[in-house]
Amino acid sequence: MHVLILGGTTEARALAEALHPWTRVTSSLAGRVARPRLPVGEVRVGGFGGAEGLADWLRAHHVDAVIDATHPFARTMSFNAARAAATAHVPLLALRRPGWVPVEGDRWHSVASLEEAAAALPGLGAERVFLTTGRMGLAAFAACPQWFLVRSVDAPAPPMPARTEVLLDRGPFTLPGERALLSRHRVDLLVTKDSGGAATAPKLQAAREAGVPVLIVRRPPVPEGVPVATTVEEAAAWVQAKDTAGTRRGVSTRP
Ligand code: NAP
Repeated sequence: MHVLILGGTTEARALAEALHPWTRVTSSLAGRVARPRLPVGEVRVGGFGGAEGLADWLRAHHVDAVIDATHPFARTMSFNAARAAATAHVPLLALRRPGWVPVEGDRWHSVASLEEAAAALPGLGAERVFLTTGRMGLAAFAACPQWFLVRSVDAPAPPMPARTEVLLDRGPFTLPGERALLSRHRVDLLVTKDSGGAATAPKLQAAREAGVPVLIVRRPPVPEGVPVATTVEEAAAWVQAKDTAGTRRGVSTRP
């Protein structure tokens, strides 16, 4: 059985680890990060050329199942995966870590997009913003007059806000580290996507403790009709079930 994991996340790497070497796994990375953490098994890097390109790739490489384990905000890739899997008649599962849930003491404001987040800044009276939404979305804040602390894995490129300090770092982050960061930079607003997961969650607790409000960007929906697993174990069991079904029939698991 050949499984394609659309990756770029902690969960995608963990799933490759869970399936390898019993199942042939190819992990696909977009190639955005200069020095990515590589999963075990085979790895390919770069776009497929849209949904049609991905459908061709699935056929050419005899892929039996696809797991879309991309980041919850990688919307285009997820929609391309749904179209390609349907075209090539390959089963598809989305692996999505659960979103974050506010607890008592949190001061969250939810918005639908980065643009909406930028528009909400004046209303929240923010002056010093900790922006953790990734370097690719900085253009949405380019015209904002506030001061920004931007944390990203690789250096961002313009357009970006005029008053920006860049902090190059990659998770997991610690609670003491996040507390110190908010305090040192006198942050009065945190902007984040609802990425979910433990690796970047300490900033939410640090904000709660410091009474700093959080502007949280809601997730785009998973494409209609695509089944969703929320844990690596669930996704691995789904692959296992496909594999068993294929073995029983003595044929490939492709429908
Ligand atoms: P996106 O906007 O949904 O995708 C744009 C294009 O990038 C896709 O059409 C595809 O090109 C290519 N692509 C995306 N993911 C790919 C993958 N895993 N393998 C091969 N090609 C891929 O994606 P994005 O939001 O820029 O995210 C890019 C990657 O970074 C994803 O793998 C994602 O898991 C990871 N990531 C994203 C975020 C985020 O906040 N968006 C955060 C952390 C990690 P073609 O059309 O040419 O196939």
